[in-house]
Amino acid sequence: MSALAQDEILVDESPEELLRWAYETFARVAVVASFQAESSVIIDMVSKIRPDFRVLTLDTGRLPQETHDMIDRVRDRYQIAIDVLQPDPAEVKDMVDTDGTNLFYRSPDLRRRCCEVRKSRPLELALRGYDAWITGLRREQSVTRAHVQTVTVDREHGGISKVAPLASWSKAQVWDYIRANEVPYHSLYESGYTSIGCAPCTRATAQGEDERAGRWWWEQNEVKECGLHFPTRGEVEGNAS
Ligand code: SF4
Repeated sequence: MSALAQDEILVDESPEELLRWAYETFARVAVVASFQAESSVIIDMVSKIRPDFRVLTLDTGRLPQETHDMIDRVRDRYQIAIDVLQPDPAEVKDMVDTDGTNLFYRSPDLRRRCCEVRKSRPLELALRGYDAWITGLRREQSVTRAHVQTVTVDREHGGISKVAPLASWSKAQVWDYIRANEVPYHSLYESGYTSIGCAPCTRATAQGEDERAGRWWWEQNEVKECGLHFPTRGEVEGNAS
């Protein structure tokens, strides 16, 4: 596929074609991985296109041990350097001194503050060095993600391009790929988790619950997003919880 205008919506292209296009089009491309199932698929696909690819991930300081184990497994399997981003220690100290270690349980505003300090700001700083980033967002994941496009201009991050090659994929397609290609996946899926984030803010889900219902499960009528991709305030029809 030839290079296309970055605001063209490449809806009919396969994830692999979209990724190939991204690496042909942009000089500096980052895969931003949470090490959930979608990250597993994208990392495996990119490894077959661009062996020297860059992976960024956010170590919020509150991740489960299983995520750190998964980072090591991916590093070993693909022999890649993974850039583990961390929040500014002074900002974390200020937040914890003021509002406590577990501030996120006390109010949605404090939860958003924690996500802002531990996730959004470190990513924003890191993406200043890139022309495009690749994410594992899928439309099916929740109502907040229902309109995700495969390629967009990310105005929240300096107008660089944001590529979501799995936007149209179902959960079944993700797991079919993982099994068919024997790709490493996060061990917490074996314990009933369907979405995985920070340890104190994620629980396993029950059958029939929304895929992201285990994220910030104590909040009612709040947007189940951390701010990396979407606004965290506002009305959400049929909230994902
Ligand atoms: Fe903080 Fe929870 Fe957000 Fe992690 S998910 S940054 S612990 S509020």
